[in-house]
Amino acid sequence: MQLSETIKLSPTREQRSLVNATMSEYIRTVNSLVSIAVNGTSIASYTTSNVEADLPSALINQCIRDARSIVKKHYKYCHKAVLKNRSLAKRGSAIRTKAPSLPILKKPCCYVNNQNYRIRDNRIEFPVMVGGRSKRISVPIRLTDRQKALFSDAKFGTMRIVTKSHSLVAQIVYEAAEPILKSEGNVMGIDLGIKCPAVSYCSDGNVKFYGNGRKNKYMRRHYAYLRKKLQSAKKIKAVRRINDKEQRIMHDIDHKLSHDIVQTAVAHDIKVIKLEQLANIRSATRQSRKNNHSLHTWSFYRLAQLIEYKAKLAGITVEYVNPAYTSQTCPVCGRIHHANDRLYTCKCGFRTHRDLLGAWNICNSTEYVGNRHTA
Ligand SMILES: [Zn+2]
Repeated sequence: MQLSETIKLSPTREQRSLVNATMSEYIRTVNSLVSIAVNGTSIASYTTSNVEADLPSALINQCIRDARSIVKKHYKYCHKAVLKNRSLAKRGSAIRTKAPSLPILKKPCCYVNNQNYRIRDNRIEFPVMVGGRSKRISVPIRLTDRQKALFSDAKFGTMRIVTKSHSLVAQIVYEAAEPILKSEGNVMGIDLGIKCPAVSYCSDGNVKFYGNGRKNKYMRRHYAYLRKKLQSAKKIKAVRRINDKEQRIMHDIDHKLSHDIVQTAVAHDIKVIKLEQLANIRSATRQSRKNNHSLHTWSFYRLAQLIEYKAKLAGITVEYVNPAYTSQTCPVCGRIHHANDRLYTCKCGFRTHRDLLGAWNICNSTEYVGNRHTA
């Protein structure tokens, strides 16, 4: 499976200015190739000899590849917009989708393919232009022990150099060995929700609650409020900025949740993690205006994907089960009825926390709906 790793570069002042110049020239070249292509000249058979750029030829080749893929994607989106407008017109709607604008790279970056960079002895080597000629520079890096072990026998892919909070970093794609899936061990059921972001139940009886639903909800409401205020003041840039910030926070929360869940699974010798199929996850949730349903579906989907990915790395299989009645079935006698409030009480005397019940039933469920979500 393909993974990526970020390495911080510690260039000398001179190296830093060389890399900065390379990154600027790189995006300038890609942007100019894209504009040539969309203005009617095909770049399909372009080689380094067709491109004027103050870059090593390996990087010019990469620019051509990048430009081609940007153009291809752009045409695909344009085509989608045309189809959408056609169907809108058919339905008699006066609304039209705007044609997508041409993507322009703004953030300085550059890509170097695996044949043109090399990592060794806490240094990374790649070509830049020095006085009009291509020259390899060797930039000091700091690798953690984990990264050293990781890279010792990895097959590298493309490297991307970007600036992140004022430092240069290299994002390196590598092929990791496919982990061997465990064939023996316990089963874990996970119930994803709003009030409790996640609850796990292991077949050895262990129960764990993750995250803080109330805090997440307050955060979202706070950002929604800010957004509304800024929108009515027509501060579009500020709206975008806080949207990005909220996305980043949500992403961090999901990363932490999925990490904690998989850690628990590893600690309890889990071989299979079961999740509800996401299309109608916890459909028993009463829909209030405060709960934006589509938004929640999306964040469940994202969290499930992260769990799936981290579980796979730990050799744990993820399976999806039918969500019907998981929050209503008594695991002791099998009766089906709704929970009153947060507590689930059954006629047979069984009682438990409602969200824990979901995880428990998911753990026991054999109603598989494949090992892919369909949200
Ligand atoms: Zn019962």
